[in-house]
Amino acid sequence: MELYTPEALITEDEISLRIQALGNAITKDFEDEDLVVICVLKGAFVFCSDLIKKINRPISLEFISLSSYGDSTNSSGNVRLEMDITANIEGKNVLIVEDIVDTGLTIKTLMDIMAVRKPKTVKLASLLFKPVKLKHPVKIDYLGFEIEDKFVIGYGLDYAGRYRELPYIGILNAGN
Ligand code: 5GP
Repeated sequence: MELYTPEALITEDEISLRIQALGNAITKDFEDEDLVVICVLKGAFVFCSDLIKKINRPISLEFISLSSYGDSTNSSGNVRLEMDITANIEGKNVLIVEDIVDTGLTIKTLMDIMAVRKPKTVKLASLLFKPVKLKHPVKIDYLGFEIEDKFVIGYGLDYAGRYRELPYIGILNAGN
C-alpha cells in the first residue's frame, strides 16, 4: 500500500510556537490558582498533552468524549456524551481543551453540561477554529489557529480513525 503524505497546512514548528504562547497566557491568567483540564477525546489528546506541559500551574486532568461526526466529514447535527469526566468540578477552575470548533455545536453542548455542575470558572482552549460554518457562537479564550473551511487531519485529528499520528496539521485530499 502506497504511503499517503497529506499536504501540510500548519507545520510542527508553527504548532509548537503557538502552544508555548498559549501556555504562557494560561499560566499568567491562572496565577495562584489550580486548574482542572478537561481533554475532549479523541481529537484533542495530542494538543492537550503538549499544552499542559507549557502550563506552569497545578493541574488535574480529566477526559471526556462526545461524538458528532461519525465517519463523515460533515456534522450530523447530533452530539452524544460517550464518556464523562470522573471529578467533581464544583467551585473549580475548568479549562476545556478541544481540537477544533466548526459549527460550535459540540462545544456549546459541552459548555451546557459543565455549567450545571457549578464550576468557579470555565475557559476554552481550542487548537483550531473554522469560522465559516459557525452556528453556535462560543468564546474561545485560547485559540491556536483560525483556518479556512477545509477538512483537516493530523496532530490528533482523524478522518475515519486515521491520520491522528501525523505530527503536523494537514488537509485531507479527497480521493486519498
Ligand atoms: P462542531 O460541533 O463544532 O461542528 O464540530 C466539532 C467536532 O467536529 C470536532 O471536535 C471534530 O471532532 C470534528 N471536526 C470538525 N471539523 C473537522 C475537521 O476539519 N477535521 C476533523 N478531523 N474533524 C473535524
